[in-house]
Amino acid sequence: MKPKVAVFDFTCCEGCELQILNCEEELPELLSALEIVEFREAMTGKASYYDIAFIDGACSRQSEIARLKDIRKRAKMVIPIGTCACLGGVNCLKNNYTMDELLRSEYGESAKYHDTIPARPISAVIPVDFYIPGCPIVKKEFIRVVQEILAGRIPHQYNNPVCAECKMAGNVCVFDKGMTCLGPVTRGGCEATCITGGGVCWGCRGLVDEPNINSEKLILEQAGLSVEDIVKKFDLFNIYQEHVWK
Ligand code: SF4
Ligand code: SF4
Ligand code: SF4
Repeated sequence: MKPKVAVFDFTCCEGCELQILNCEEELPELLSALEIVEFREAMTGKASYYDIAFIDGACSRQSEIARLKDIRKRAKMVIPIGTCACLGGVNCLKNNYTMDELLRSEYGESAKYHDTIPARPISAVIPVDFYIPGCPIVKKEFIRVVQEILAGRIPHQYNNPVCAECKMAGNVCVFDKGMTCLGPVTRGGCEATCITGGGVCWGCRGLVDEPNINSEKLILEQAGLSVEDIVKKFDLFNIYQEHVWK
């Protein structure tokens, strides 16, 4: 019997699910090794048991807590995909406000009909078995993780900072061009795509294990950023972990 796989969406733009559907070249081979039993963005089927449940999106509604607990009960493995699910991501920017303020500013008099709670990553609600970070996820990494699981191995989690791949790509460091970057403390695995494309790293894949925060703070300060600027920069994707910076 092929392993049963489901993909669920919570609070997010669903871009990480689109990345799965964008794996056109690899999907036929994957589908010969597993069975997708539930994936709202791609099909109408439902199932009651999953070998792997991929979760896209953060938890930001009371109703999502019960839904997550139900998925956990039915799934052998739960794997958050994307920064919203792994870290809370951009959804957690709302945690800077009270939920009442937010609801009133968005929905005015209809606020009472909406359910919202401070956003949080999936692991803050249920135990998870692995993480595939990124905004959005990297297709190659998703395929590799699935292949490793199908082969019965614990998937490898990339833990070098973005700087390592940035150097391998032959990029000139953006600090030498008067810009700032979170690459030294951010988990790589994206092949430093933003820097290669002419931008900077905003930390979308979260922190590496044991990040050298003090050193990153120092280079950002030397580049002219105040502590407040630094925290703001980091908050975009990592506000749930922001205590690290303060
Ligand atoms: S991690 Fe980024 S691309 Fe993926 S769902 Fe969240 S906002 Fe969209
Ligand atoms: S541009 Fe960013 S990721 Fe690349 S080497 Fe410099 S600090 Fe590291
Ligand atoms: S370079 Fe940074 S912001 Fe860009 S994809 Fe990689 S981790 Fe995310």
